[in-house]
Amino acid sequence: MSKNKNSSISIEQSSYPVIKEEKVAYDPFIEVTLQFERAAKYLDIEPWIYQRLKYPEKELTVHITISRDNGHVESFTGFRVQHSTIRGPAKGGIRYSPDASISECKALAAWMTWKTAVVDLPFGGGKGAVICDPLKMSENELEKLTKEYIYAIRGIIGPNKDIPAPDMFTNAQTMAWIVDAYSRSLDCIEPAVVTGKPLSLWGSKGRAGATGSGLFFILEEAAKFLNFPLLNKKVAILGFGNVGSSIAKLVYKAGCKIIAITDIFGGIYNENGIDPFKLQEQVSKTGTVCNFKDTTPINNEELIALPCDILIPAAVEGQINSSNAEKIQARIILEGANGPTTLDADEILEDKKVLVVPDILANAGGVTVSYLEWVQNLQRFFYEENEILEITSKKMKKSFWEIVDIMDKYNVSMRTATYILGVGRVAESLRSLGKIGRN
Ligand code: NAD
Repeated sequence: MSKNKNSSISIEQSSYPVIKEEKVAYDPFIEVTLQFERAAKYLDIEPWIYQRLKYPEKELTVHITISRDNGHVESFTGFRVQHSTIRGPAKGGIRYSPDASISECKALAAWMTWKTAVVDLPFGGGKGAVICDPLKMSENELEKLTKEYIYAIRGIIGPNKDIPAPDMFTNAQTMAWIVDAYSRSLDCIEPAVVTGKPLSLWGSKGRAGATGSGLFFILEEAAKFLNFPLLNKKVAILGFGNVGSSIAKLVYKAGCKIIAITDIFGGIYNENGIDPFKLQEQVSKTGTVCNFKDTTPINNEELIALPCDILIPAAVEGQINSSNAEKIQARIILEGANGPTTLDADEILEDKKVLVVPDILANAGGVTVSYLEWVQNLQRFFYEENEILEITSKKMKKSFWEIVDIMDKYNVSMRTATYILGVGRVAESLRSLGKIGRN
């Protein structure tokens, strides 16, 4: 038996080799690998397929140098990981964070492989990051950093190879700079190299709020599945960036009561409800949710333990873990962030009968609209927002009910069922391509 120190989950010794790393700290790549291994066992996939899918295909580390506004020269480390290109170009965001690491990129890239397969998109999975503190950098410095990073990784990205998108602390402007940096190396403009662009550079209508819209489509289905009408339900949200703010507005419009929100600087609580539209006005001015009118301060741990119906993690990985899962009172956890719940916490939540709607389904609205943006860019033909949202809603809802069938068939949690769907699809594509490296 192999036992991951982070998790009480054991992977039986079988024909499958098991992960060997012994890590003390939380390692998201170990988490995603254990999730993959569990699905692979249910699917009984062949060892050659298992080996191909377990490790990233490509990991690139680059060191880039820019001059800061104060004249000092500084170097930064960046990564781009392609976990899989079996079903299409790698697809996944670029994150700017002081905590970015190759392990985090590997995990996020693998989650993208399974996510694109869950919603049946013709993509694989990738992820990139630069270790930096974007909150302490000027617009000018961020533009230089982005363009140097793209120049450094330009050989492995492209519309048919690997298509980045926004992630934490990158946005439509960052994507526009990427179009510029990449296009200069081609001598022609190539918008299809990234998604999540501004409309002025052939971004897609509906992309800015796409991850939030997708979360809401899935929440509506989860509410039907549990017979749990959304009206007046209490909601708590970790993170108020792109994902957190868009889902906040949608649940508010649906008649839910948002009682708490946190961000990187702190948090706010009001048992009578918080208006996310007014909060957004404040955040646009001050950059934080803190000190919003008629609220009291709250931190992440207090928010997670609040008596509420729906908990939406929309910030960073690992925030719901074995130290706080027992305290959770919500009926539904809707994972807006990637990897917000550790495997240990998952087991506790399963015992508590909390429905955890996993990231690779719940937040797939972003990549689904990204897919439609890429299609529009390749065709030079554009859709209206209602058409985009209709296709996204159909795709996501179809996946939701396919997953419910798998939950029934294997008697497994929603997360495991979602992995069974995603891993099964990629395995089937690889099986059709044929054996590579047969021995
Ligand atoms: P963002 O940068 O727009 O917002 C992140 C938010 O989280 C900010 O409000 C920030 O203050 C907050 N935050 C950061 N660290 C925190 C902490 N320790 N505690 C509480 N709040 C904290 O990023 P985003 O695009 O909204 O992404 C959020 C999550 O959703 C990430 O896990 C990302 O990978 C995932 N995601 C994003 C998209 C997308 O389309 N943007 C799609 C799928 C998944």
